[in-house]
Amino acid sequence: MPPLPIYETLLSRNMVSMQTTTDTSPPPAARPARRKQNQAVLEVQGKTRISPRLLRLTLGGEGYAELNRNESTDAYVKLLIADPASGLQPPYDMDGLRENNPELMPARRTYTVRRWDDEKQLIEIDVVLHGEGEDSGVAARWADEALPGDRIAMSGAGGAYTPQPGSRRHLMIGDHAAVPAIAAGLESMDADAVGTVLIQLDHDEDRLDLEHPTGVELRWLIGERELLVDTVAALDLEDQEGLQVFCHVERGITKQLRKVLVKDAGIPREQISISAYWALGRIEDQFQAEKREPVGKIDD
Ligand SMILES: Cc1cc2nc3c(=O)[nH]c(=O)nc-3n(C[C@H](O)[C@H](O)[C@H](O)COP(=O)(O)OP(=O)(O)OC[C@H]3O[C@@H](n4cnc5c(N)ncnc54)[C@H](O)[C@@H]3O)c2cc1C
Repeated sequence: MPPLPIYETLLSRNMVSMQTTTDTSPPPAARPARRKQNQAVLEVQGKTRISPRLLRLTLGGEGYAELNRNESTDAYVKLLIADPASGLQPPYDMDGLRENNPELMPARRTYTVRRWDDEKQLIEIDVVLHGEGEDSGVAARWADEALPGDRIAMSGAGGAYTPQPGSRRHLMIGDHAAVPAIAAGLESMDADAVGTVLIQLDHDEDRLDLEHPTGVELRWLIGERELLVDTVAALDLEDQEGLQVFCHVERGITKQLRKVLVKDAGIPREQISISAYWALGRIEDQFQAEKREPVGKIDD
């Protein structure tokens, strides 16, 4: 992978800071306890289009030290993105906003940390530029319009999957949003690792030249998302000893794949990392909230 261009000039946008902490509510002790999440504020330092619809952002600065360094290859951060028209600047007083200006609450969006650079105190995130105009999303638009020097608040990193060196075989299944996590997983595998990777993309020109062990077959499925379900159903999954599975796609497809992997093929659930990365027709806030409802459950 060639070195990333780092912008030489750091511009900052002129945004008006807004007072959001006016507190007329009861003293803290009387409020219900909330889980505090530290916000790390990083600066946009580089931006590279690595395929027509995948944008790599390099984020760094002092805020890097505030991140919880997670060694998992699917490590992810939660970006907080305020409406530019609000004038809000990170870090955000989330409790104050929730109580006094809920309409100004920043959107929370999840992105895989594609690469950590502890020495330079940088992370890279790869953002899918899905949809266009109004059909696009808050995060996709933010990434597309980001300028060097822009500041972004985030929390994390969470994450729990890493290819185990002791695994006899790997099966990785993803769509465009999972490409960063799959790429990081492939790079971490031992040279003698064996397995299959299936990645569905809407457009052929978004394929990437991913580094992978020679014993791991990398297959790009170009077209409908359902291609993944048919392709996985056609795999020989009888030998499950030492099989480790990673499966993260759109929610409806994730549910179908869970059936194929767990119910039909009988792979023990503990050998599978499976969850939806996004849901068709849902903004992420709604998708995350629905995890508490039957429609949002992947496991029965
Ligand atoms: C653990 C985890 C890691 C993730 N890692 C990455 C990552 O590294 N890179 C990445 O790009 N995404 C990643 N995602 C997915 C990303 O969080 C969602 O795609 C998110 O909804 C994007 O936010 P948005 O503001 O652009 O769109 P939203 O405002 O959330 O959604 C707007 C509309 O776009 C649709 N939409 C959302 N995402 C997609 C998509 N990928 N393709 C087509 N339509 C979509 C929604 O259904 C909705 O109709 C990850 C998700 C999780 C849970």
